[in-house]
Formats: sequence, C-alpha cells, structure tokens
Amino acid sequence: MENKQITELDILIETHIDLDRQGPGSPEMTLKALSFIGNLDGIEHAADLGCGTGGQTMVLARHIKGRIIGVDLSPAFIGVFNDNAKKLNFDGRVEGIAGSMDELSKLFSKEELDLIWSEGAIDGIGFEKGLRHWCAYLKKGGYAAVTCPSWFTDERVPEVEAFWGDAGSKLDAVGDNIAAMQRCGYSFIAAFALPEECWTEHYFIPRAAKEEALLKKYAGNALMEESARNSRYEAELYAKYKQHYGYVFYIGRKL
Ligand code: SAH
Repeated sequence: MENKQITELDILIETHIDLDRQGPGSPEMTLKALSFIGNLDGIEHAADLGCGTGGQTMVLARHIKGRIIGVDLSPAFIGVFNDNAKKLNFDGRVEGIAGSMDELSKLFSKEELDLIWSEGAIDGIGFEKGLRHWCAYLKKGGYAAVTCPSWFTDERVPEVEAFWGDAGSKLDAVGDNIAAMQRCGYSFIAAFALPEECWTEHYFIPRAAKEEALLKKYAGNALMEESARNSRYEAELYAKYKQHYGYVFYIGRKL
C-alpha cells in the first residue's frame, strides 16, 4: 500500500475531502440564493448535483424539510457526505449517491424534483447543456439554482481563459448565461456575484493549508508539487483579475 503510486485524482480527492467545501462559496451565499426560492415549505424533493462532501447541502437541509439527494461522481466524497448527514441527524432525508449529473435518468424520474441545486460543478458539463438536461427532471414551477464561473466585464483575460480551459471550463458573460437559461425553458429569477471571501477564506486559504501538509506527507512527489503549484497560480490569477471574473449564482424557475 505504501508503495502505491498516487495519481492526480488521488491528490485532488485527498486535498479536498476534509475541507468544508470543494470550491468557492459560503453558507451565507447559499442562504442568499435560497431566499429567492418561493414556498420553501412546498419543496418535497430536491437534488444537489456535484455536491462534493455536502457543505452546502447540509445548509440547505436546515431550511428545507423535504428529501435532498446529493449526487457526485466521487464515491469518496459521497462517503463523507453520508457520514455528515448521519452526524447531523439528517439521515433518511438527506442522502448522497455516487453518479453523474449528466445522466439524471439513472437517478430521477422526469418532472420529479422541486429544486435542483448545484454549486461549483455545472461548468464541468457546460452551463447550457447542464441546465437543459436538468430541466426535464424539474416539476413545472420548480427551481434551479447554480453557480458558474463567469465574465463580469467585456475583457477576456487570456491567462484566465487558458487556465480555466485547461481545467475543462469555458467562461461566458453573465448576460449570455442568463440568455442560455431562458433558452433552456426557465424564467429568470435572479443572478448575483459571489463575494471575494467565497474564494479566499472559504476555499483558497483552507486548500493551501491542506496542500502544505500534503507537500510534507508526499515530499518530493512531482504530481503533488505540480498540483500545489497549480493551486497557487489559480489564487494568483484570481487576485490579479478578480474584477473581470468570478462565480455567479443563477436562479431560474421552470416554465
Ligand atoms: N458543490 C461542492 C463541490 C464543488 S467541486 C461545493 O461547492 O463545495 C465540483 C464537484 O463536482 C466535485 O465534487 C466533483 O467530484 C463533482 N463532479 C464533477 N463532474 C461531475 C459529474 N459529471 N457528475 C457529478 N459530479 C461531478
């Protein structure tokens, strides 16, 4: 076991698994987005797609009485999710399932869900593609609330485009994403930018602390060094260009 070569994915999971969250966001912003959802008491069945270990799901579960299913590709994250749900006595009502957010037919029936939540994950499959696919699983009048990295200005910073492109994401302008949401069959409810501390205090700082520890644990490992370098570069890019891009919460209601 000790000689097992660690992979990039192992590093990604070990870096993130015991953080409160696996991407930018905060409990305050989850609640702000939730404040745009009408009739919370009427929500019987919600899904949190790309839930990670469920930081934001547990916040939602304190305010929604219905059933919440967290879905994530990583079985390791789902393991922690279900442990947390048990610790918080949400078990039974809040459950994590390993699966893919682009194959909801394996998990839900059409028009089953009152709410689809997704923080920091939709850009992996594409904002419009994701919202279009998910719409079929929402009831008429159901809500989608998702965060996606987006351009705030008219500038397209090449280093930012290259970094996010390498990570498999394409940033679009806020207005283009709202138009995409409308094309997919939603009525626009709200959009707001996540404040800086969602990136720094809630993500970059705890991630950097964990990486320091892992650099010691895996001293001399080239993949670990590369991963930590990449994270530092991501934080530097954000510090330099944060007026041009960031995460935006988009909330829409199925027509
Ligand atoms: N929502 C959490 C995690 C965001 S990180 C938070 O905001 O803290 C993005 C998550 O999406 C990761 O946990 C990753 O495993 C998951 N993910 C990536 N592609 C996915 C897919 N196709 N289906 C489901 N989950 C996916």
